[in-house]
Amino acid sequence: MDIDDEVVIIGAGICGLATALALHRKGINNVVMERSETLRNTTGAAIGIRQNGWRALDQLGVAETLRRTAILIHRDRTVSLDDGKVHEILMKGEFRCLRRKDLIDTLYDELPSTTVKFGCQLESIKLDPNTSKPVLRFSDGSAILAKVLIGCDGGKSIVADFLNVKPTKKFSFCAVRGLSNYPNGHSFDHDFVRITKDNKFLGIIPIDDHSVYWTCAHPYVPRDERIWEDLEVIRRSSLDLLSDYPREIQEMIEITDAKSLWFSHIRYRTPWDLLMGTFCKGPVTVAGDAMHVMGPFLGQGGSAGLEDAVVLARNLAQRGSIQIENGRKVTVQGVEGAFHLYVKQRKMRVVRLSLQTYLTGMLTGTSSRLRKFIYIVLLFLLFRNPSDHMDYDCGRL
Ligand SMILES: Cc1cc2nc3c(=O)[nH]c(=O)nc-3n(C[C@H](O)[C@H](O)[C@H](O)COP(=O)(O)OP(=O)(O)OC[C@H]3O[C@@H](n4cnc5c(N)ncnc54)[C@H](O)[C@@H]3O)c2cc1C
Repeated sequence: MDIDDEVVIIGAGICGLATALALHRKGINNVVMERSETLRNTTGAAIGIRQNGWRALDQLGVAETLRRTAILIHRDRTVSLDDGKVHEILMKGEFRCLRRKDLIDTLYDELPSTTVKFGCQLESIKLDPNTSKPVLRFSDGSAILAKVLIGCDGGKSIVADFLNVKPTKKFSFCAVRGLSNYPNGHSFDHDFVRITKDNKFLGIIPIDDHSVYWTCAHPYVPRDERIWEDLEVIRRSSLDLLSDYPREIQEMIEITDAKSLWFSHIRYRTPWDLLMGTFCKGPVTVAGDAMHVMGPFLGQGGSAGLEDAVVLARNLAQRGSIQIENGRKVTVQGVEGAFHLYVKQRKMRVVRLSLQTYLTGMLTGTSSRLRKFIYIVLLFLLFRNPSDHMDYDCGRL
């Protein structure tokens, strides 16, 4: 077994890379173990980042680079094709839609080149009886004794299972995402447009003057999920689903870059499991979707993961004592206290976010008038200012 003296992060998604970068900025050496053979920078097409997410990116020192890749979105517009009603509000704070590739590549490029180890799939975690440190076993048979373990391994997290967090659940619908490129420029305004019809939902956000990100909700039909590996099946079923949408929508889907098409069943951790769950044990914790996977209805899951990264690294740097071993900085003391504080500081933020997301998702997904009424009342009572979540400031790194 390798005796690793570093902080080990599992998963090189948005949160894992952001956490690695936040720790790196604080001078804490770390290594990221990613199961894919290469950087996962093509999945999921794009991601909307609100003001709170930009604050976290500012702290990570990558916001300026990323601002250059995406235009500022001015308005939030909802169009109902059922009754022709249009509801429009000015966008609160900074909102841009980033290509996931730009975000992932930018975070990765800021890290020392040896930080991410690819092709390392975590299979199990056990505590070493002598040291109480986590022993990580990988699918190639290798093992590491980690001093600190941070699970950023997404909605089906092995690290969250190790912490005995309840399993995540699935909404009754799925999402398709895609990127459409218009070499001669598109005609969409710089708006985030939601178009609804008969309980169907399509969201469109321009990234720049030539690229547009779109996402739509698909009802879940139980069948072999492998059919969605065929990108043309995703395209055809989206075209069928939105066949009664305007012609420009059909064109947008027809010209979508096939490689960007992405189908996913939407997972979430219930707000009450988040409230009751224990998200750290000794030198082990979780961040990002591994802690709080939520539906895309507020577009906040990824930004919440960026906030986690800043808060986690700040606490580890402040509370964990940094020792120099063989000329490298490693955190070996005070980790437990730092992780407790990190979870405490994040808990109510992510419980509120996930509750608002959950109620919004249930409201979107139900056709029962009574249920719709109940969700509207709950949202009104609990979230008087529905855009409050964008004002959140995770603080300085
Ligand atoms: C349709 C949709 C739209 C969304 N839109 C937005 C939006 O507009 N704005 C927003 O902020 N958020 C949005 N989100 C949420 C956002 O995509 C996620 O919150 C975010 O991508 C989670 O990042 P992560 O790094 O925590 O997890 P992931 O992206 O899931 O990354 C986990 C990583 O861990 C690796 N991994 C997993 N298991 C192991 C293992 N055992 N060993 C080693 N590596 C492993 C995976 O390969 C992966 O690279 C959306 C989500 C959906 C589904």
